[in-house]
Amino acid sequence: YPELTLAAFPSGMANLYGDKAAVVDGDTVCTYRELDQRSGAFAAALRDAGVTERDVVLLHLGNCIEFVVAYYGALRAGATVTLVNPLQPGPGLRSQIIDTGAVAAVTQPGQLDTLTAAASGTTVRTIVVAGLPAGVGRGQFGFDEFVRGYAAAPFTPAVSGDDVAHLAYTGGTTGLSKGVRVLHRNVLANVTQMIAWRAGHEVCATDDGGIELRPIESLGDRGVVPGDGATVVVSPLFHAHALINMSFLLLCGATQVFAGRFEPGRMLELIETHRATYITGSPAMWHAVATHPDAATRDTDSVRVVSSGAAPIDHVTLGALSRAFPSASVVEGYGLTEGTCLVASAPLTGSVAYKLGSVGLPVFDTEVQIRAQDDSGAVLEAGDRGKLWVRGPQVTDGYLNHPEITAQQFVDGWLDTGDIAYLDEDGYLFICDRTKDMLIYKGYNVYPRELEEILVSHPDVSSAAVVGREAGSVGQEPVAFVVPLPGVRIDGDAVSAFVAERVLPYKKVRDVVVVEQLPTSAAGKILKTKLREQLATAAT
Ligand code: ATP
Repeated sequence: YPELTLAAFPSGMANLYGDKAAVVDGDTVCTYRELDQRSGAFAAALRDAGVTERDVVLLHLGNCIEFVVAYYGALRAGATVTLVNPLQPGPGLRSQIIDTGAVAAVTQPGQLDTLTAAASGTTVRTIVVAGLPAGVGRGQFGFDEFVRGYAAAPFTPAVSGDDVAHLAYTGGTTGLSKGVRVLHRNVLANVTQMIAWRAGHEVCATDDGGIELRPIESLGDRGVVPGDGATVVVSPLFHAHALINMSFLLLCGATQVFAGRFEPGRMLELIETHRATYITGSPAMWHAVATHPDAATRDTDSVRVVSSGAAPIDHVTLGALSRAFPSASVVEGYGLTEGTCLVASAPLTGSVAYKLGSVGLPVFDTEVQIRAQDDSGAVLEAGDRGKLWVRGPQVTDGYLNHPEITAQQFVDGWLDTGDIAYLDEDGYLFICDRTKDMLIYKGYNVYPRELEEILVSHPDVSSAAVVGREAGSVGQEPVAFVVPLPGVRIDGDAVSAFVAERVLPYKKVRDVVVVEQLPTSAAGKILKTKLREQLATAAT
């Protein structure tokens, strides 16, 4: 892995790709050279505002060019970035500010009041607002006002690969949202792994501290061609998945087109207009895109790779996706914030075949073990289900301010992913479910994901989620939430019977709740905690 930090990225990329468009947001274009200049000026302005090595800068922004400028600008100042959903309500925002000790924040006009209130009396001294000409209070600046007069002074911050690049908060899908300490070397390792896996190149440092991509002959041609291509970005950059993809795609020289609020028809239009070559997203998003009427008529022939990650994707949606993008490899990627981003992925080309239901092979230099769920923690054989542990250079060093949870989940370089999985004879990884989502009914393990796969193959069901309902001494019984296909009325008993015909008796779905839509997080994950709460409320 190159001995670089992310601070070297903007100028390294400007040398490689110069006047090519790096980011497009509506009518505004930011080239690679402009990204270098603007992030350098932002870094200089931050330093003047007293921000120094290892200080924390909070990005409280949706996807916009200022996000990209501020992310690399803060890293070039030697600071650590932390990211938060701009719609995060005040109390959560305030606790993240206190948890990280952020000294500066970048926000957007609609969220300025919430931020100002949440930051009051904390360590935050400077607030920069993207989209406002000038600040409205003490210590507040408009984005352009903040950087005005600054040039990208050649400045190398005193940070190394072992410093924290960003503190990414886990989605909180299963409970407490925790800040993960993602080091510069974790990001460098993960983008290097992604570039090898998906672009067939390695990332190298040049003698003058710049960056170079060199082809790895043995990997041959892959889906992404460095220096070429475009992508349409809909996933939020404040989530680990999209954030690391941003560095990966910029290093590849792609143009990232921000699509704004996700709307499937608009996404298909942008894919056609910009001749997108590589697109990533969550299963919920892909479900909406693949079933949209325009999927059959838009020209998507430019797309070479469609990647789905962040949550399991069902085989019906995968099939619909391959029909919507006939010239693309449709692949899954598996990862988690604690592992920077990508841990395993289906190979794009080469002799290794794609396997339905598998998230693919661990990316290079990454080991996986399936360990027994009992106290023995014994390493299991191929085919056996157990807890998935991962080791590799992208595995982070733990959570901010949570030493006990860190000690439990990060052991001897290995990370407990919290997922249940198995490996097949060829080393392909199959994710069964999250440990916390698994149900125990009469002593048997029930994996909701297996039931969800069956439910979506029912002719009337569009999407489904299964959660456990407390049932006293027998444990938790599976209850299905189903969304009908448009214009269809669902008969819950018929759907239960459909599942019962296909599973062992203890796995039968005990109730079917018909809903218009399933609650999802900003990253596109189904929020099962909300569904469990709904069941608990109904029971009281
Ligand atoms: P929290 O960990 O706080 O509950 P979160 O789940 O949103 O929040 P992330 O780090 O974003 O935190 O999610 C990682 C998890 O997402 C993985 O552990 C796994 O359960 C799930 N996941 C990611 N990609 C896939 C995939 N391709 N298939 C199945 N599950 C996936």
